[in-house]
Amino acid sequence: SDSRRQQGVTVLGATGSIGTSTLDVIARHPERYRVHALTAHRSREALLTQCLRHRPSLAVLDEEHDAAWLRERLLQAGLATEVRAGQQALIEVASDTEVDVVMAAIVGAAGLLPTLAAVRAGKRVLLANKEALVMSGALFMDAVSRHGATLLPIDSEHNAIYQCLPPEHRGGLARHGVTQLLLTASGGPFRGWSRERLAAVTPEQACAHPNWSMGRKISVDSATLMNKGLELIEACWLFDARPEQVQVVVHPQSVIHSMAAYSDGSVLAQLGNPDMRTPIAYGLAWPERIEAGVEALDLFQIARLDFEAPDETAFPCLRLAREAMREGGTAPAILNGANEVAVDAFLAGRLSFPGIGELVGEVLTALPAESGDDLETVLGADARARQAAHTWLERG
Ligand code: NAD
Ligand code: MG
Repeated sequence: SDSRRQQGVTVLGATGSIGTSTLDVIARHPERYRVHALTAHRSREALLTQCLRHRPSLAVLDEEHDAAWLRERLLQAGLATEVRAGQQALIEVASDTEVDVVMAAIVGAAGLLPTLAAVRAGKRVLLANKEALVMSGALFMDAVSRHGATLLPIDSEHNAIYQCLPPEHRGGLARHGVTQLLLTASGGPFRGWSRERLAAVTPEQACAHPNWSMGRKISVDSATLMNKGLELIEACWLFDARPEQVQVVVHPQSVIHSMAAYSDGSVLAQLGNPDMRTPIAYGLAWPERIEAGVEALDLFQIARLDFEAPDETAFPCLRLAREAMREGGTAPAILNGANEVAVDAFLAGRLSFPGIGELVGEVLTALPAESGDDLETVLGADARARQAAHTWLERG
């Protein structure tokens, strides 16, 4: 039958944290999934190892000299994998006719065009790359409905909310009796810290997340709470919610991945161990369920679940994101672009930890948001935000 047919999968950002977990789940179900393409930015050794293991039809790297290196090694190994380079190749492997499912797991704005290409080709799109949606929300969601793509959120919070909503939840939350989305946050490694103490935070400290093992950019975002801010914006677009309908709840154990509150007083939650293979497997198999390699949840070992309000004074990024969403237009794209520059500068030792929120706030104040939601306007806002952030950094 149709459902037994092998699905072709492209993994954008295959060598990252989400990409690696995706390949782990896929490898458990060879009868269901076939790897069509794997992509990476510069990590050619890691991509080589993945190609030898998963035998994709195509592999993509950013630069031609890395692609040539990989082509040579794959040829020696007797593999027929075709190797390409550059942004256009990413767009192609995201929209090829042989592809049913695209895992969008590139980090940052770099993932926007290939993810949008997958949406426009009407694929099942597993969205991990939240920055793409934050930048281009209106355009992105419009493309999803226009091209009949199936968009499944992989971010654990949004995946949880998706599971807690009725199967057909388009047309606004109120129509389905949903009053609020409760977005849980671990609080990051510096939960409870004062502003003074945060001034001395190092990249190593910021990248050591208590519950999740993730790429460096999202680890820093988790530490500043910008990640929760981006997720608030993401939730508004995915679920047609107003920022006021999304309540951030700090929940240090990261066992409840998020919740939906209903008008009759019911609150539905999705629980599980903090392991991204659960939302990935959900997205791959939906509406079916498949084994993900995740350990069963042991509630007796967890013993208790705690909740507290976020500290938006010590962690201003959450507030900045909510304000950007309220302002609308290109404000979220400006927030995201400035944040990407700020995180890079922090990781390179050129900006303090509290400097991240300061820089993003400065850029949002300096640049007026525009109302257009076409791609040119979005990319223009992103470029101007980056430029303004670099100028601010150079001024010291
Ligand atoms: P990562 O840094 O571990 O991996 C990023 C991947 O993207 C790598 O394969 C890298 O080679 C590729 N890449 C990076 N820059 C690129 C560029 N300019 N062009 C093309 N490819 C590029 O990141 P991650 O932690 O796997 O996160 C990926 C995305 O998923 C992010 O948007 C993140 O916010 C989101 N996400 C991650 C997690 C998690 O647990 N790691 C959870 C929720 C959402
Ligand atoms: Mg998340």
